[in-house]
Amino acid sequence: MKVFKFGGASVRDARAVKNVAGIIKNYAQGPLITVVSAMGKTTNALEKLTEAYFNRDKQEMTRIFGEIKAYHMNIVNDLFEDKKHLIYNTIEQSFYSLYYYLEDPPGKNYNFEYDRIVSTGEMVSTQIIAAYLTGQGITNQWFNASGLIITNANYRDANVDWLKTENAVKKHILPYFNKNKDTKAPVAITQGFLGGTTQGFTTTLGREGSDYSAAILAYTTKASEVVIWKDVPGLLNADPKVFENTRLLQNISYQEAIELAYYGATVIHPKTLKPLLKRNIPLKVRSFYRPEEPGSIINQEFLNDNTYPSYILKTKQVLLSIFPKDFSFIAEQNLSRIFSECARNNIKINLMQNSALSFSICFDQDKTKTPALLKNLEKIYNLKYNTDLELITIRHYEKANLNELLAGKEILMEQKNRTTLQWVVKPNAEQAD
Ligand code: ASP
Repeated sequence: MKVFKFGGASVRDARAVKNVAGIIKNYAQGPLITVVSAMGKTTNALEKLTEAYFNRDKQEMTRIFGEIKAYHMNIVNDLFEDKKHLIYNTIEQSFYSLYYYLEDPPGKNYNFEYDRIVSTGEMVSTQIIAAYLTGQGITNQWFNASGLIITNANYRDANVDWLKTENAVKKHILPYFNKNKDTKAPVAITQGFLGGTTQGFTTTLGREGSDYSAAILAYTTKASEVVIWKDVPGLLNADPKVFENTRLLQNISYQEAIELAYYGATVIHPKTLKPLLKRNIPLKVRSFYRPEEPGSIINQEFLNDNTYPSYILKTKQVLLSIFPKDFSFIAEQNLSRIFSECARNNIKINLMQNSALSFSICFDQDKTKTPALLKNLEKIYNLKYNTDLELITIRHYEKANLNELLAGKEILMEQKNRTTLQWVVKPNAEQAD
């Protein structure tokens, strides 16, 4: 059994959906679990809808809802010539149920409401794709991920209950494959990003969580491999939208890929690799534009890990230096206080450094979390900070052209170990005030 994962870009319009059907037809060689994201940028639009719902901005809600529905109906129209096809009714129903839900005022739990609303994206995309595959003669069954991936009720960032998930997957998906033993490649199609509580409420696993869904399903079914189909040729040593002359990393180890994802490489969701590593399930990253090419493979081999430098850029960073007001040293008591403030405000530290009298941390800038942290810390400490910075991480930096990377930037902080060099920099330093 294999698991394929298709992200939003791979199903963003009717042509893309047809391409996905072609890939499944040509590359599924046995039982296949297919995990699909919401179409195009639907999750972003649904997030805006949730905002409008909470602000009770009826006009905005109607506008966004109308756009999301029209976008999906257009794709359905392009895919299904028979206007009496059941899918028209199914999608109408899904949107009607959302519309009906939005009529009532929101409850107090924002994250709960978010998951209810935003999950619509994956629900409708998988309904459309399942119906289209059926029309193409591909044996498939649609599964609701909220009954497969069982989580706690930590809405928007739910934690997986592995045992319950394994049992649910065994109970639902495996009988389907058994029933279709004589079919060459039966497909179980389900939503990425979604899970459900034991009470049956839908949860989400965090933005970009569909890769993780694929890994969870692979782990629980002991799949032979996971393929993530992307709009890039595979795993690259840098984001081609940011860096020139990128190289394909054809074969790297789980450990190296975990490091890259941890430092902010966006190709793979950071939680994806651990479950795969645990069961030694290879992860392939392949291009849905060029499915015939092998792309990248991540597995237990370390051979190529130290060959090329990899570059990761994180923008919108804050560098905060913290000084005790009483000139005491930054010792354990102060550190533990600072860390618990970060944890309380949900701030993930990307880099830290201490001296005798100050402690500096670099973290992602956020509209609400950053001011909340600063407000709490400034009661006890003197603070100095810069915003809108960049964090540049270079793995295997020995062979990297460092000068070129730094052109026009001012280094505010540097950290180096045997494999990794990190800089917090001020971009466009010469233009800065
Ligand atoms: N649709 C969700 C998102 O855009 C999950 C995913 O695509 O991985 O974050």
